[in-house]
Amino acid sequence: MKQDRFHGRMRGSQRACDAPGCPEPGEFRAPGERAPGFDGPGNYRWFCLDHVRAFNQGYDFFRGMTPDEIAQAQSPLAGWAGETRAFRPTAGIDQAPRWADFTDPLDAISARARARAHDHAKAQEAARRGINPADRRAYDTLGLGFDADRRGLRARYSELVRRFHPDRNGGDRSHEDALREVVEAYNHLRRLPAFS
Ligand SMILES: [Zn+2]
Repeated sequence: MKQDRFHGRMRGSQRACDAPGCPEPGEFRAPGERAPGFDGPGNYRWFCLDHVRAFNQGYDFFRGMTPDEIAQAQSPLAGWAGETRAFRPTAGIDQAPRWADFTDPLDAISARARARAHDHAKAQEAARRGINPADRRAYDTLGLGFDADRRGLRARYSELVRRFHPDRNGGDRSHEDALREVVEAYNHLRRLPAFS
């Protein structure tokens, strides 16, 4: 491990960033939950650049977590060091948000948590209704709830065709892909028993 020119960066760190779910290497040191003092030298947390910046702005990534959850989040298996992340089944889907894409890290975290909870509830409802992944993609493409009936499907379909059709958009063909997806999703769904 060698010290980088960049202040405080330790390149080649084998630790993952301590921010829960972050797959980046933890190359920047921040004070841990135990300050140096009477009980010993204190400890440190290691973050990627984006997360050490957020940490320096006062955000506690572990707020509301139990000690077990914190330990799990800090385990090497929580990050890149433990597995080849490109081959994880969830690669690219379930990874931590790219911090730079958000002006407020708090928003990024809560948005991701909300999306997860929502996905989970939706997956459960789909399973309960016997909706398979291809069906579900079609529902999502049309923005339809799983409780939609034949009339709802048709109404939504004609609304989207109107929205994306070049004839309704002054010949603008930029929505062609969206229109094709809408037609495919409709043709998929209308054959299902739920819409017969
Ligand atoms: Zn990070």
